Amino acid sequence: MRPELGGDDAVMRIVFTASEVVPFAKTGGLADVCGSLPLELEALGHELVIIMPEYKSAGKRASFNDKASMEIIGKGVKVYFIKNKPFFSRPFLYGDSVSDYPDNLDRFSFFCREALQLLKDIGKPVDIIHCHDWQTGLIPVLLKDAYLKDPFFSRTRTVFTIHNLAYQGLFAKEEYSKLGVDVKFFNNNQLEFYEKINLMKAGIVFSDYVTTVSPQYAKEIQTKEWGCGLDGVLQDRHGKLAGILNGLDYVAWDPEHDPHVDPPYSQQDQLAKKIQKEKLQKVFGLPVMSDIPVFGFVGRLCYQKGFDLIESAIDEIMHHPVQLVFLGIGEEKYQKLLKKLSRKFPRQFSAQIKYDEDVSHWVYAGSDFFLMPSIYEPCGLTQMIALRYGTIPIVAAVGGLLDTVADFSSGRKKGNGFVMSSYSVSGLLEVVERAAGAYHQKDSFAALVAHAMANRFTWQASAKHYVEVYEECQS
Ligand code: ADP
Repeated sequence: MRPELGGDDAVMRIVFTASEVVPFAKTGGLADVCGSLPLELEALGHELVIIMPEYKSAGKRASFNDKASMEIIGKGVKVYFIKNKPFFSRPFLYGDSVSDYPDNLDRFSFFCREALQLLKDIGKPVDIIHCHDWQTGLIPVLLKDAYLKDPFFSRTRTVFTIHNLAYQGLFAKEEYSKLGVDVKFFNNNQLEFYEKINLMKAGIVFSDYVTTVSPQYAKEIQTKEWGCGLDGVLQDRHGKLAGILNGLDYVAWDPEHDPHVDPPYSQQDQLAKKIQKEKLQKVFGLPVMSDIPVFGFVGRLCYQKGFDLIESAIDEIMHHPVQLVFLGIGEEKYQKLLKKLSRKFPRQFSAQIKYDEDVSHWVYAGSDFFLMPSIYEPCGLTQMIALRYGTIPIVAAVGGLLDTVADFSSGRKKGNGFVMSSYSVSGLLEVVERAAGAYHQKDSFAALVAHAMANRFTWQASAKHYVEVYEECQS
């Protein structure tokens, strides 16, 4: 008999498997989700375990056995770190700015196998294994292959969450034997994708339930345009596919209590945001001017985030009295682009090419607008963070951006940002001009900022949806 939460809700033992988890390792939103959601599920009364690779030396972390170390976060969420120094103790998680590590299939199939073995070593039966992105896509396959008849996993169900369908974990078929699963699965309905191994497809096909990180993205990935070749596979899973909007950690992101924001500001008292703007302009080496809008960006430098469109529109944007600040790291060509634009427009454009938590807080707090012309966006956390800091998002009408940002125009008082009406240079210019115009209407802009800061996308709401999914898997 499993223990009961008050009422009918049974306590579930839920295991998260992920390649990055805040506060231990992060390249993007996946890590934020896998650091926050388990804590929220624990608060609902469930028992949570997280398994991730051990990227750096254990330090003072307790050793669980010779294959894993362990640490506790929240009230009692046990985080296990799978050891393998040659695989995981590297400068980057997946590869450098030029290419992925060539042995990523070995690294992450090792991780998946060890994660399941670790659960057996721990010895407590598991209700749900919640897998995240292609790095963990092999786990549902292993459970339907080597572990199919293992009584330890007889009640275990799998949920697979797609954080970004564009990164699928594609590998040469010659590597198949390294996966350690039956060769019969290498067919077009299962692991094969145009003669390659596809680990994202593996997770989608073999899991009991598939989720993704916003309702709009769940619809988009079932279309030819946004399905990245997996739209048919996702349509087949339509009845077991849900889009659950990510939440934001409103304790970590709070301009009233953020140590990076001094003096603090709040929805009721926005005055000190001006001081943050001044600081930001200084940090980015731009002239300190309070009367022109600053547009900020924080994120990975990659095709997805809309840099090609920014490049095409930048000369026209710079005709307006605006400043742009960029914080990001990623593909070489976009790093070069940002450096080139900083040289070309020294009084208006400045970029810091690095991953830096401190600077990211300064950009969220000190900018007036947050620029996010993404080509696609599964959910996007940065626009939610920006809203929390009263920094008005300017977004493309895609994915999670559509689920979180409504256009502000005189007729729609509910708006909290500016949404591009078309994905084009003119669409971007129009929205930037409209935003800059709104900035100068001081009273209505202050009201917009206050409204944005009041928006809430909570993990509590998301966690309840996930519990419904887990329960459906168990039924
Ligand atoms: P994605 O998952 O596509 O990378 P998200 O918007 O979902 O984008 O999440 C990005 C997260 O990573 C945010 O928390 C953002 O603040 C953080 N981030 C991205 N790039 C940087 C950077 N260069 N420095 C600091 N934080 C960053």
